[in-house]
Amino acid sequence: MKFLYSDTQDYVDPGYDFLNDRSSPGRERYWSDVYAHEFMQPAPYDGLLVSMSAVRQATGVASSKVRYSTREEQRLLRDGARRFLRYGGPRFKDAMLMGDCGAFAYVEHPVPAYLPEEVVEFYTEAGFTHGVSPDHIIFDCDLSNPPEKAVEAAVRQRFAITLANAEAFLGLVRREGMPFEPLGPVQGWSPKSMAEAAHRLERMGYRYLAIGGLVPLKVDAIKLVLTAIRERIKPETKIHLLGFAKADSIREFTDFGITSFDSTSPLIRAFKDEKANYYSEGSDGKLAYYTAIRIPQAIENARLMQGVKRGAFSAEDLHLRERRALDEMRAFDRGASTVAATLDAVMDYHQFLVRGDGNGAEHQDKGLDKTAALVQRTLEHRPWKECGCDVCRSIGVEVIIFRSSNRNKRRGFHNLGVYHRHLRKTLGEAA
Ligand SMILES: [Zn+2]
Repeated sequence: MKFLYSDTQDYVDPGYDFLNDRSSPGRERYWSDVYAHEFMQPAPYDGLLVSMSAVRQATGVASSKVRYSTREEQRLLRDGARRFLRYGGPRFKDAMLMGDCGAFAYVEHPVPAYLPEEVVEFYTEAGFTHGVSPDHIIFDCDLSNPPEKAVEAAVRQRFAITLANAEAFLGLVRREGMPFEPLGPVQGWSPKSMAEAAHRLERMGYRYLAIGGLVPLKVDAIKLVLTAIRERIKPETKIHLLGFAKADSIREFTDFGITSFDSTSPLIRAFKDEKANYYSEGSDGKLAYYTAIRIPQAIENARLMQGVKRGAFSAEDLHLRERRALDEMRAFDRGASTVAATLDAVMDYHQFLVRGDGNGAEHQDKGLDKTAALVQRTLEHRPWKECGCDVCRSIGVEVIIFRSSNRNKRRGFHNLGVYHRHLRKTLGEAA
């Protein structure tokens, strides 16, 4: 089972100065920066997925998820995605490079933002090894399997559009001489309708299916969907899970003949999750999670700066506490401070992130107590000391500090690495 990371221009400055929180001298975005697969050995994923909606602005789509500038898009198409992502050479020449449309970006629209012709051309120019036909997300999955006539016309339309696109897409890919392996996307309003879609795609000639719309579903619901699909298709037909948010429960999905899946969650959770920011391999063979220690830069934190503007606290005082929290963390890492003293310094600064949030003091105290317990656990276990990955070995304690994109993304890289290793171990495969 291959794990693909869905890239959204995620790179770090390899020469970042952590003590002064400064970029390396003369650093140029992208050009000086490195991707996770350049930073880490082994690479923390088996392939990359690039969404067309992250690269190209679709006409008529208001909510944009475009991460590429026009020049970057042009360069990606001119040089090919492999070269653009620096994901080539002998190390990566066989790694999967999948394109999809990023259907979330146009989910509000009546029709997909891109036509099959445009998508085939885009994938071919970018040199992807695999490409998913333009689909249209159906969000509601009704496990009671209502018949087609019982669902809304808009849902039926999404079902029909996805299949009609897939037919046109496959014809175009064949006419171009199969420059990449086409994937037929499965969308439906129930396990049964998704199985029907899968069956029709297989009949069209697809040998690789991409299952969409799984994001809001719980593990058990996904299992029902996959069981229904597997019953309707040939055992040799391959399955990819699109945007698989339940990646941490992957061991529950090993019986469904899944060839590949993509996820961003290990990286995203490094800085978006409330408390599970740092992945670790638990002693029970499951993943364990730690809370990163928030010591934001006061001058870059909107809430802290509002407090200063209101006169609730002074910038100098804040800066001193920030300094003390950082110093104490580093001393702790060297063995020159205790859990108690470090916790005290961290929480002394952290309280300012909570005070002034508009909630009552009692509510705030409760939140601070919860955070303190999580921080204490992180300090007591010191998980970054145990990790031998390239991130933890090169920046040590900085990886656990929640502060600036260069730390937070590196923590995301670490998470990808831990996740990838965990996946290999769970599946009993060699890395
Ligand atoms: Zn690590």
